[in-house]
Amino acid sequence: MRSIVVERYGGADVLRVKDVPVPTPKPNEALVKLLAIGVNFIDVYHRTGLYPIPLPHAIGQEGAGVVEAVGAEVSEVRVGDRVVFTGALGAYSEYHVVSAEKLVKLPDALSFEQGAAAMLQGMTAHYLAFAMRPIARGDVALVHAAAGGVGLLLVQLLKRLGARVIGVVSTEAKAKLAKEAGADDVIVATQSDFEAETKRLTDGKGVQIVFDSVGKDTWEKSLNSLAPRGMMVSYGNASGAVPPFSPLLLSQKGSIFLARPALHHFTATREELLTRAGDVFRWIESGELKLRIEHRFALDEARQAHEALEGRKTTGKILLIP
Ligand code: NDP
Repeated sequence: MRSIVVERYGGADVLRVKDVPVPTPKPNEALVKLLAIGVNFIDVYHRTGLYPIPLPHAIGQEGAGVVEAVGAEVSEVRVGDRVVFTGALGAYSEYHVVSAEKLVKLPDALSFEQGAAAMLQGMTAHYLAFAMRPIARGDVALVHAAAGGVGLLLVQLLKRLGARVIGVVSTEAKAKLAKEAGADDVIVATQSDFEAETKRLTDGKGVQIVFDSVGKDTWEKSLNSLAPRGMMVSYGNASGAVPPFSPLLLSQKGSIFLARPALHHFTATREELLTRAGDVFRWIESGELKLRIEHRFALDEARQAHEALEGRKTTGKILLIP
């Protein structure tokens, strides 16, 4: 089978198509034939080594497909089931063995593409909206990369909770998408300073919560955009990791709270995984949550997919189709 393997950390050019044997599931694993694979920014961190992985290793976290074989101890799924998963390194492959406890059955109404697009970014938007701090009606939330994969879903869930949402994007075209997702205001950060603009939009008060996935480039201004006792949710590093700082900074910026969460801690038990995935799938089925799948690449084009993602050329979800 074909698999996209990283042998050394580096740019998108280190992604290699390899011919490797189809893996055999261990007793607690299932073999999944992949029909759609999710591309996520974490795959870039694994490729560059920002989040180290043992090398050589196939990358990718997320996929949807059909169970082809199960280990002796597996009770969660059966051969022939349509399934989705996230958090299983090596998903840029034609087949993947996945711990059965990470597999979620895909509702009949959803396509494999929708499944692969919904899992990682959908459950991330879910825990960001519901598990950081209670969002009260009228709270103002600042969402960076608001037209991205997580961003478009997060905007919709925050609106569902009654927040006023200010999105930040880099182009007018992305601003239009963020608005369509429900953002009340959208700042095009290449045209105006997002900190000054956020202050202006909130009559100088600042926002109750910032969702910052950009990291290094936006850290300081994101902190400055918060109202006293607001919360900074730093959940990604698209521009690079935030440098070390003193906790005193949080006091100086208004006794603000800082969260630095990761999805796997919010899907840590089978029950939590099924609850979050179940909500996301149900809302997609009912039309309450809209997925945007704009970019499809062949599995062999993983390099081009990464170049587009890092080049800020994408909106919504990127898929690899084996
Ligand atoms: P996106 O689709 O959001 O793509 C990244 C976007 O970030 C770009 O489109 C761009 O939007 C913006 N961006 C700003 N600066 C840069 C830069 N220097 N280089 C590249 N992009 C930049 O990706 P995902 O939805 O996959 O992920 C979004 C973020 O969420 C990532 O940081 C990811 O690591 C994080 N994440 C965190 C999780 C967690 O649990 N902690 C789980 C899932 C994702 P624009 O052009 O509008 O600025």
